Amino acid sequence: MKNFPMFLRMDGRRVVLCGGGEEIARKARLMLKTEARIAILADTLDAELAGLVASGRATRCAEDAATFAGAVLVFIHTGDAARDAALAAEARGAGAVVNVIDRPDLCDAFTPSIVDRDPVVVAIGTEGAAPVLGRAIKTEIETMLAPRLGSFVALAGHLRGAVAQAFAPRDRRSFWEWAFSGEAFRAHLDGRERLAAGLLKDAIAAGQTPGNKGHIALVGAGPGARDLLTMRAVRRLQQADVIFYDRLVDPEVLELARRDADRVYVGKEVGAHAWPQDRIDRLIVAEASRGRRVVRLKSGDPSVFGRACEELDAAAAAGIEVEIVPGITAASAAAAAIGRPLTERGETDTFVITTGTCRPGDAGPDRSLLARPGTSVAFYMAVEKAAQVEGDLIAAGAPGKCPVDIVAAVSTGRQAHVATTLDRLAQAVRDHGIVSPAILMVRYPKSLAAGQAGAGTRAA
Ligand code: SAH
Repeated sequence: MKNFPMFLRMDGRRVVLCGGGEEIARKARLMLKTEARIAILADTLDAELAGLVASGRATRCAEDAATFAGAVLVFIHTGDAARDAALAAEARGAGAVVNVIDRPDLCDAFTPSIVDRDPVVVAIGTEGAAPVLGRAIKTEIETMLAPRLGSFVALAGHLRGAVAQAFAPRDRRSFWEWAFSGEAFRAHLDGRERLAAGLLKDAIAAGQTPGNKGHIALVGAGPGARDLLTMRAVRRLQQADVIFYDRLVDPEVLELARRDADRVYVGKEVGAHAWPQDRIDRLIVAEASRGRRVVRLKSGDPSVFGRACEELDAAAAAGIEVEIVPGITAASAAAAAIGRPLTERGETDTFVITTGTCRPGDAGPDRSLLARPGTSVAFYMAVEKAAQVEGDLIAAGAPGKCPVDIVAAVSTGRQAHVATTLDRLAQAVRDHGIVSPAILMVRYPKSLAAGQAGAGTRAA
C-alpha cells in the first residue's frame, strides 16, 4: 500500500482551488459535499465557479502570503505546468496537502472514486494503476448500496443517544443488528421513511428489540446473465437469510447473495421431477415464520409462468409480508439478444405470451386466436411441443411462411438462435438439436396476410 486511505475532517477548514476551468470545477463539486470553506485563486472563472462565488458558497482569493495559510487541501490546475509546480511548492511550504490534477508526480494525495451515501462513504483507489477499474468498482458498489442508505444511517446516528439510554450495553448490539437489517431498515430503503422512524422509536420507547419479522420476496432472476437483474433484486438477494432457487437460475446470479445465506435448490435437472409446489410453499412459509428473510428466486419474471400465485396465497394465509420483485422475462431477453423487437409498428401490434405446456389434464390451449395477422407470439415451455404449435397455428389459418425465431439459453454462454418459418418449425427444432430452455417466437406480420408472401421475413 503506497497510499494510505484516511478520512479528513473538513468542516470549517480552508480548501484552495487554483484554476478556473472545468477540472477545478469538478473538484469544487466534490468539496461542496463537505462543509469546507472554499477559496478560488484564478484570473478567470468558468460559469459554474463564478456561480459558486456569486452565491457565497466560495470566495475568491488573491495570490499573496496568505493564500495558502491554514489551508488543509489545495487542488491545482491552472493550465500552465510551470505555474502549477510553483503553486504546489508554495502550498506544500504552507503545510497543505497538495493535489495537482493530472500530475501524480506533484501530488501528496489523490482523490479516490467515491460512493456517497453520506454519512456512509466508500472510497476506492488503485494507486493510479487502473483508474478505469476503480470506476467500474464504484459502479458495482453503487448498485449494492441502496440510495436511501445514507439517510437511514443519519437517522440511526441521531438516535444513538436515546438507544444508549434505553438499552443496557449488552443489549445494544442486538438492537443495532435489528435496526440495520429488520423491518425498519427495509421500510426506510423502500421509501417508507416515516414508518421506519416510527418502528425505531417504538422499539426504543419499549426498551426492547423487536423479533425479526419474516418476509418473503418472489424475485425475478432474469434470463441468466447476472447483469440482467434489477438493482432491487440484487438488494433482496443480499438481505436474504435463505434463498430457494430452481434449475433455470444461473449460478452467476446466486453469487450476488450474501456468502452466509442458505441456498436451497428446489428444482432438479430437466426430465427429473422438481420439488412439488406445495412443499416449496410450506418451506418458504416455515422459514419466514421463524423470522427469516426468504428469497424465492425465479428465472425471468416471477409473474410469468412462475407459479407465483400459489406462493403468494401461502404467504398471505400465514400472514407473512410478501412482495414480488419483477424480472426480465425470457421473451424480452430473447428479443434483445436477436435484435428484433417484440412489436413492430404497422406489422405486429399484438404481443402474446403463452405456453406450450399446460397442467396435466387441462384442456390444450386454444391457439386459433394466435393465428391472426398482426400478432407476435412468444411460446414458453414449448420445445417439445413444436410440432403441435406448428400444426395448430397452420390449421387455424396462419401462413406457413410466418417468420419464427427459436432462441435458446438466452443471455448465457450457451445462447443459440435459429431463424426459420412456421412450416419448418418442428424440423428446425430437431435439426438444430434445440433443447429447453428456449423461446419460440412466431410472428404473423400484417403484410403477410395482405398476400405479400415473403414480406416481414427480414433476416434476424
Ligand atoms: N418466469 C420465466 C419463465 C419460466 S417458464 C420468465 O419470465 O422467463 C420456463 C420457460 O421459460 C422455459 O421453458 C423457456 O421457454 C423460458 N426460458 C426461461 N429462461 C430462458 C432462457 N434463458 N432462454 C430461453 N428461454 C428461457
